Amino acid sequence: MRIAVLRLGHRPQRDQRITTHVGLTARALGAEGMLLTSNDTGIKKSIESVTEVWGGSFYVKCGVSWKSEIAKWKEDRGRVCHLTMYGVNLPDVIHEIVDADKLLLVVGAEKVPPDIYDLADWNVAVGNQPHSEVAALAVMLDRLNSLRGTDVLRAGFGGKLEIVPLPRGKRVLER
Ligand code: SAM
Repeated sequence: MRIAVLRLGHRPQRDQRITTHVGLTARALGAEGMLLTSNDTGIKKSIESVTEVWGGSFYVKCGVSWKSEIAKWKEDRGRVCHLTMYGVNLPDVIHEIVDADKLLLVVGAEKVPPDIYDLADWNVAVGNQPHSEVAALAVMLDRLNSLRGTDVLRAGFGGKLEIVPLPRGKRVLER
């Protein structure tokens, strides 16, 4: 299953940190890349510099048109899942979503364009309470990974640096 994240409504003055966390979380939990509707090249650089050191092939594409990215994704038989507290609850639809070969996970910032609710194949709530795009994305990816038996939390990313998990202290291998 290929998974990418579409981040809507990023405001360069306010959302830099949280959008960076959306990207880093997506990368660490197995997504292939993040599409960002704003043209914030600082975010792209900072996430790609993490990938450079810690491995993998995660990409960040900035300044995209969300409508045309969704259209392209669907033309290529991809499915679209918008994460929103107003949607149907995750446990009720996760068994359908996990069957997608290509999945675009859409997360907002403050408010998303109303059309997204119709364009998405699923509008999914990670609980019907307001919280965070980072948390919603993490739970969604974790549920998908669990159902697919993908052990991404133990996976190596083949980076220049690799952590040796220890009960105490820190050990990092350099390649
Ligand atoms: N009231 C806002 C709204 O229109 O959904 C909440 C915005 S929240 C700060 C930013 C993003 O976090 C939302 O666009 C959504 O993607 C995600 N989010 C927040 N709570 C969520 C929940 N309970 N389930 C799924 N996604 C959620």
